[in-house]
Amino acid sequence: MRCASGIEARQVDELAINIDPIQVGGRLTGDAMKAVIAYGDGYSVCDNCRKPNRLDYISKPPIAEFHKDVAAWLNMDAVRTVPGARRGFQAVAHTCVQKGDPVLLTSLSHYTEFLAVEGAGGIASEIPANEQHIVTPDAAALKIEEVKKQFGRAPVLAFIDHVDYQYGNMHDVKAIAKVCHQYDIPVLCNGAYTVGILPVNGKDLGVDFVVGSGHKSMAAPAPSGILATTTERAAEVFRTTAIIGDVTQRKFGIKEPEMMGCTLMGVTLIGMMASFPHVKERVKHFDCELENNRIVVDGLLLVEGTKILSEMPRKHTLTRADTIGSFDKVAESHKKRGFYFSSALGEKGVTGVIPGATKVWKFNTYGMTRKQALYLAEVFTDIANENGLPLRV
Ligand SMILES: *Cc1c(COP(=O)(O)O)cnc(C)c1O
Repeated sequence: MRCASGIEARQVDELAINIDPIQVGGRLTGDAMKAVIAYGDGYSVCDNCRKPNRLDYISKPPIAEFHKDVAAWLNMDAVRTVPGARRGFQAVAHTCVQKGDPVLLTSLSHYTEFLAVEGAGGIASEIPANEQHIVTPDAAALKIEEVKKQFGRAPVLAFIDHVDYQYGNMHDVKAIAKVCHQYDIPVLCNGAYTVGILPVNGKDLGVDFVVGSGHKSMAAPAPSGILATTTERAAEVFRTTAIIGDVTQRKFGIKEPEMMGCTLMGVTLIGMMASFPHVKERVKHFDCELENNRIVVDGLLLVEGTKILSEMPRKHTLTRADTIGSFDKVAESHKKRGFYFSSALGEKGVTGVIPGATKVWKFNTYGMTRKQALYLAEVFTDIANENGLPLRV
């Protein structure tokens, strides 16, 4: 089946249990799929754009209301939609960071946070995670003192991942933000793996910015995301344009330079909006997701020599496994080499593990049913059995 010549219809989640770390939270709801079809045309949300002309003021469809709802849901004061979490980082970095300024990141930060800092001319100062791969408030304090010694001033901004992409570990953003604020450092909570997955309360975390990814964690089309902030910081990052044309004397009203005026103008925004009621509901049931994750992890750990590198017990469904002592042993002698593992998973209807990976790899159990979790746990032990790997007794 093809969409057009050369473009095959994609059937991944329809045909298999997908455990791809980055994909599972972004799969569209049925309502979002309908929205995608209805609002696929360019600038489709602009039919009823009236003065003052700006995306977040449009009331039909209810875009203005959506902005208010998302802000309330995250317990923040102001929200804008952005084309991906990375564009949220970029807007904040561009607002807060001048050339040569030190910026706090962590040793588990995502590359897009680094690039946002780079684009603004900042210097990356990473808070090292501890041996358990957790970023602690003490390590943050030490790093800030180190930066002060080196630069003669504190960092101008901190990017702290709520749940990091490498281990899926949860970091104490609240305590880290408290430390940062003692030095007047604004804090951005990177919720790429949490906003839309589990409850996030910006005021309770005490952060200045919350960034979420629509296509990673809010069942929305790509590229989409949200940037939420406080009233105080909104005046800075959502400042309005002041430029005047020297020939025409034109001004551009309430357009915001960091948002380039308007951001998500069609299918991305309406997709995110259509999924939002479902997303609000699903974050309340994250405990069921963790239970499914526990079932799968238990199945994996039954295979002797397997280790889980993420914190235990799991606080998130994104999990890093080390199978050097188990599945990797088969790769040495198997005719398919390391590809036997992803290939065996594929034959059993499981997709999303990097082909060839048998040493250290990640999976995300988010969104599966209990039945699928039980089945997946069995798949791992079955592959072990088929390849002569012993199970723990
Ligand atoms: C995926 C990811 C991002 C990037 O999100 P986009 O919405 O694709 O820009 C940023 N940070 C972390 C921790 C991520 O996992």
